[in-house]
Amino acid sequence: MSFEPTAAVARVRIRARHPTCPCGRRCRSGYDRSTRRWRHLDLGGTRLYLEAEIRRVSCRSCRRVRTETVPWARPGARHTRDLQDLIAYMAQRMDKTTVTRLLRVSWESVASTVVAVVAENLDAARFHGLFRIGVDEVSYRKGHRYLTVVADHDRQGAVVWTGEGRERPPSTASTTNSARRAVLTCRR
Ligand SMILES: [Zn+2]
Repeated sequence: MSFEPTAAVARVRIRARHPTCPCGRRCRSGYDRSTRRWRHLDLGGTRLYLEAEIRRVSCRSCRRVRTETVPWARPGARHTRDLQDLIAYMAQRMDKTTVTRLLRVSWESVASTVVAVVAENLDAARFHGLFRIGVDEVSYRKGHRYLTVVADHDRQGAVVWTGEGRERPPSTASTTNSARRAVLTCRR
């Protein structure tokens, strides 16, 4: 553990001898190594980072070089799984500006975290029996970027689709033309 002027850094080590690709394949050896940091839950009023040496792997299944998975963070994330889970939990219960101030994270972090956590928890059967949907459009970066969330109103607002920008979700053709919040009824 070391302390910097504005943060504390905890050194952690991956114990697995063989690195695992995000696709799940265990690789024999690493392609190269580098040191990386992930923001973790604050230590009181101090920002806490986890720092570790990680390997990239040349994965035969993915046919490209990818960064190995680590148990404390989702692939490609700059925040730990614990911090992302807290961001996603708070984002469900309060406005995004409050989340960014309380947790001292950026708008982009809140948006990308919500997308990552929702994608991980999406129910594969979410399109079955979908009848009434709600479309919520969240803007960030002073209204320059958008996050579109589609929810199932008959299952307590369970999320069925998310996308960055004002993309059109599949099979809900005209929904994104609607206003900031709307409830729509699809044909069965
Ligand atoms: Zn792979």
